[in-house]
Amino acid sequence: MEFEPVIGLEVHAQLKTHTKIFCGCSTRFGAEPNTQTCPVCLGLPGVLPVLNRTVVDFTLCMALATGCTVAPESRFARKNYFYPDLPKGYQISQYELPVAENGRIDIEVDGQSQGVRIRRIHMEEDAGKLSHDPHRPVSRVDLNRTGVPLIEIVSEPDIESPAAAGAYLRKLRAIVRYLDICDGNLEEGSFRCDANVSIRPKGSIELGTRTELKNLNSFRFVEKAIEYEISRQKDVLMDGGTIVQETRLWDSSRNQTFSMRGKEEAHDYRYFPDPDLLPLVIDAEWIERLRQALPELPDARRTRFVEQYGLPAYDAGVLTADRDLADYFESCLAGFPQPKPVSNWIMGPLLGLLNVQGIAIDRSPVAASALAGLLKLVDGGSISAKIAKTVFDEMAASGKPPAAIVAEKGLSQINDTGAIEAVVQDVLERNPEEVAAYRGGKTKLMGFFVGEVMKATRGQANPKTVNELLRQKLNQ
Ligand code: ADP
Ligand code: MG
Ligand code: ZN
Repeated sequence: MEFEPVIGLEVHAQLKTHTKIFCGCSTRFGAEPNTQTCPVCLGLPGVLPVLNRTVVDFTLCMALATGCTVAPESRFARKNYFYPDLPKGYQISQYELPVAENGRIDIEVDGQSQGVRIRRIHMEEDAGKLSHDPHRPVSRVDLNRTGVPLIEIVSEPDIESPAAAGAYLRKLRAIVRYLDICDGNLEEGSFRCDANVSIRPKGSIELGTRTELKNLNSFRFVEKAIEYEISRQKDVLMDGGTIVQETRLWDSSRNQTFSMRGKEEAHDYRYFPDPDLLPLVIDAEWIERLRQALPELPDARRTRFVEQYGLPAYDAGVLTADRDLADYFESCLAGFPQPKPVSNWIMGPLLGLLNVQGIAIDRSPVAASALAGLLKLVDGGSISAKIAKTVFDEMAASGKPPAAIVAEKGLSQINDTGAIEAVVQDVLERNPEEVAAYRGGKTKLMGFFVGEVMKATRGQANPKTVNELLRQKLNQ
């Protein structure tokens, strides 16, 4: 029997507000444990939560960016469970009446565009952080994270492959980063993904029993864990077994998922409306104000890059996948207004360099203005394209401006026809057999001659002049 996978993702994005969702404590990351707490986020008796307005603003931006309908009135609910990182014994979340529903984002898989529906977006508070001592039977609780605002974005089960799950997650991450509401870091946990996975006989419309995968803290793990889970479920069904609805953890050292616990049901949490918080009322004016202020989003920017700069869709997709990268590209264009060469240099040498060094574009050792300066030197004939790569590497290593490197290392292109002619002459005299062969019809040897001249000039001769002079002399 042939099976097809069905995937739905639940994504938690930590919002970049300065203070927590229901109190004034700082959300700054990396402080000494338990220094950013107060009676409210510690859950002491008798305290009252007060909703942070910026959390609502950020959530509404996400709702608008994903085409959701905003509820005129939504509610906060208590999700009750016991865990040592949850001092109140319940998490304030939203349940029956979330702030936004029924959105959609578009993703591209294998060059094909497809939509993924967003079921809901809701606000909730984060829990604290436990750390377990590896040497002693001791665990520690840090409550600095308790009450940090999160939005949860729940997709419909519309995702059909591990690659599509990756594309969906990348698009969501791009959107929160464009909106500047979350830094989108999977490794550090500010952007977390749980994947619900089931399989069903191909063509069937009924959903199979799903498992929920956790601990997916990189894009690669998300795709690998889903891949693994699909084949595990296939094996179970093919062996005549049944899938158990449960939560499974991804183990990245073993490359497999293992069962963590049976899946809890909503009624296990005894959800009920939080009596300490008023219903959240959002009027049309609030929504409109935010809509007007929305930045250009990834899809729109990609389309603009194609139309305004004449870039291939592929280039535009790569450059706009990250807001900082798209900004870098446009800064470069301000200094050197030739889109395709700029795109080539960014997608090639620059992204290659960042990849090797494992750093993001905002920490690029080569500034956009410096890259533009380099391209101007090539365009103006001061250096050859080949030498430009040498200069680029030096810029990355030393941070010096391109013109200084060219001057210091004597890398200027030789444009002096007389000087090049002397070298050409010399090369021809040193290789009489090749010259004879060329003149006898072996014109492929042109490459050999050009190579010899370039070698003799350390790559600095103007290649166009070299070609012209060689052709002249060889055809005499
Ligand atoms: P819960 O809140 O208990 O995790 P939900 O029904 O709200 O469960 O669904 C959570 C996520 O699971 C959603 O993203 C949804 O698309 C996905 N999902 C639900 N049923 C299935 C299924 N049978 N196969 C794959 N994904 C599913
Ligand atoms: Mg869930
Ligand atoms: Zn607090």
